[in-house]
Amino acid sequence: MADLLVMKFGGTSMGSAERIQIAAKLSAEQHAKRPVAIVVSAMSKVTDLLLNTLSKAEEGDATTVEANLEALKTRHIECARELLPADRHEAAIQGIERLVGEFSRIAHGMLLLRERPPRSVDEAIAIGEQLSAFLIAEYMNSTSVAAEAVNAARVIATDAVFGNATPIMEATRERSAGVLKPLLDKRVLPVVTGFNASTLDGKPTTLGRGGSDFSASILAAALDAAELWIWTDVDGIMSADPRVAKNARVLPEVTYAEAAELAFAGAKVLHPRTLAPLAERQIPVWSKNSFRPEVAGTRIVPKIAEGHGPRAVTSMTNIAMVSIEPANTAISGTMVMAEAIEALSRAGVEVPLITSSSYTQSFCFLVRQAELERAQQFLEERLSLELAHGYLKPISIDKEVGLVAVVGEGMRGTPGLAGRIFMAVSRQGINIVSMAQGSSELTIAMVVHRKDLEQAVRSIHDECGMGQPA
Ligand code: ASP
Ligand code: MG
Repeated sequence: MADLLVMKFGGTSMGSAERIQIAAKLSAEQHAKRPVAIVVSAMSKVTDLLLNTLSKAEEGDATTVEANLEALKTRHIECARELLPADRHEAAIQGIERLVGEFSRIAHGMLLLRERPPRSVDEAIAIGEQLSAFLIAEYMNSTSVAAEAVNAARVIATDAVFGNATPIMEATRERSAGVLKPLLDKRVLPVVTGFNASTLDGKPTTLGRGGSDFSASILAAALDAAELWIWTDVDGIMSADPRVAKNARVLPEVTYAEAAELAFAGAKVLHPRTLAPLAERQIPVWSKNSFRPEVAGTRIVPKIAEGHGPRAVTSMTNIAMVSIEPANTAISGTMVMAEAIEALSRAGVEVPLITSSSYTQSFCFLVRQAELERAQQFLEERLSLELAHGYLKPISIDKEVGLVAVVGEGMRGTPGLAGRIFMAVSRQGINIVSMAQGSSELTIAMVVHRKDLEQAVRSIHDECGMGQPA
């Protein structure tokens, strides 16, 4: 659909009756001009509450399960009362109770069995988005904007990797044509749940935490939208975290590749997988602030003609550095690396940075702390013989580290940049533990001690003049 606008509202943009009214107004304004479909996250903190409830159910903690269910219901009912005219309260409360009841049924099943099967988790946690989609659709209808809540399980098709599924675009295209086109043709605004989907044979899945951005981009691509607007609670993609670098600024434009790198390296503004579905059709994306809609935000585009040097610097904590070192040269370092990487891939663990360079073929890499235990377990299992026979030193782990990533397509082929960046850091007396630049020259990454992380970000931001317009 050539003029379709897809908009996504995140958890804080859906976080209260007042916020939902604003999201509805922003949607209606655009809907008056062109076809619009929106994708919504659960109200802020709701997904955490749902996940916590299921963990407590598995532990057998019935008291917390009941308290959480009550909190879930109360929050949405109170929101509905504030949001909707009195004559719609009863129907809305019924709708909320039905959805909370579905969640409650699954949570109670887990409580009974003391088990938390991934597929049931995905079915249950999608209720957060169904509740918020229901609320905003009811509100729009009460203001005479025809809207309909749509469960994305009917629209987005994925593989069966529960908790972190990947879309199957062809099937999603067919499903969205079948479900959403008829609504759009009638000028009804579809309100699609973010985060969830289903397999080809209809089993419920989710797209990973923060996955509603990804849902929106999948739909924008499937429907051949003209644009995607992602509404959050910050002004756009920034040159650095403004809490760390006081003079950080909103970047008017970044490329898909830059935005994806920044998201991957810790900038919280966009889910890292968001841009992939849009690349083929080159659909532009805007990152906008629903708290300050008058600010333009950041436009994310396939390519930017001019612009030199690094564009932004980001940092990541909650990571750990894992080092693997052969005890002697009797063992093939390449083989050890191959085995370690295979173990990480089987564990499904992401590696934000990896380096190796010495004659002893030692190497180190980063993993997220949340995935550390799993990574360690898979590595120790895979390398158990080498470790037991003393060919390898014990695997060493350092959690007191942080990753700094400098990102910009303009760094490609620009001599002297890496030198300036490293000088800026070392002038502050900061020791660089490890560093890497891929041959795409899109990102220069370095590991520093956790205590030095923020100073490193500030010194790079200043050295490269990222706070000033190019
Ligand atoms: N509600 C989901 C989460 O909190 C998805 C999202 O908000 O993007 O992870
Ligand atoms: Mg989000």
